[in-house]
Amino acid sequence: MTISSITQTSHDRHGRYPQALCVEDLRRNLDTVRARIAEACRRAGRDPGDVRLLPVSKTIDEARIRLAHAAGCRLLGENKVQEAHRKWEAMADLTDLRWSVIGHLQTNKARQVARFAAEFQALDSLRVARALDRHLQAEGRALDVFVQVNTSGEASKYGLAPDDAPAFIAALPDFSSLRVRGLMTLALFSSEADRVRECFARLRELRDRLRQCAPDGIGLDELSMGMSGDFEIAIEEGATVVRVGQAIFGARALPDSYYWPAGGDA
Ligand SMILES: *Cc1c(COP(=O)(O)O)cnc(C)c1O
Repeated sequence: MTISSITQTSHDRHGRYPQALCVEDLRRNLDTVRARIAEACRRAGRDPGDVRLLPVSKTIDEARIRLAHAAGCRLLGENKVQEAHRKWEAMADLTDLRWSVIGHLQTNKARQVARFAAEFQALDSLRVARALDRHLQAEGRALDVFVQVNTSGEASKYGLAPDDAPAFIAALPDFSSLRVRGLMTLALFSSEADRVRECFARLRELRDRLRQCAPDGIGLDELSMGMSGDFEIAIEEGATVVRVGQAIFGARALPDSYYWPAGGDA
């Protein structure tokens, strides 16, 4: 049997992940996710050291984020800028805790992101790139960024159309405080594993093509793809970063459509 015929999505576990309420729960869940990562790497003949786990803490309150820090988390993903900024301020005493913004950004929030974020994974417009670069220069900071690509073709998803990616990447060297690391995507939200896998494969193939003509200084090594319901498939297709929330912290009360509204405000 091929890998593709055995690895299924686990979206059906959504709503069933129990809430992690103490540091032991979080440690256990982190261990379980790491074991799933290692198993997917083994199937794909990859080194688990080449896959970074980014825990996603959106909607999780400060008390539980402090438990996650105690359980060893040092970089957390948030998809809404204001929520992330509020948490950054509230937990400034945890000096080694860093924040990755993984959701759509409007230009009027670029200044906030330039101030506190360690990483931004949802770059998909030159307007945002320009605004970020300007504010980063003013702050004397640099920012790791990922270019978000819409691999599912769904109108509700942010990200560049794959065909627009080459020209976009070619323009990025103008923004010297953006350190381009790679590409990011959200797959189709579906229990049909083959259709999910196609989205991840599309991002990898695009990255491989872009790499051949990437300008100097533009790194395209990273592929951020896969979440609680589909990260094993993403790893089989080459993910170097998986963004995992519910499998670590527990099921969220609100449906996923709440976090990725069409034209919504991040
Ligand atoms: C919430 C979120 C995730 C994680 O989703 P889970 O189902 O909690 O694992 C990954 N990527 C993005 C962009 C998100 O907003």
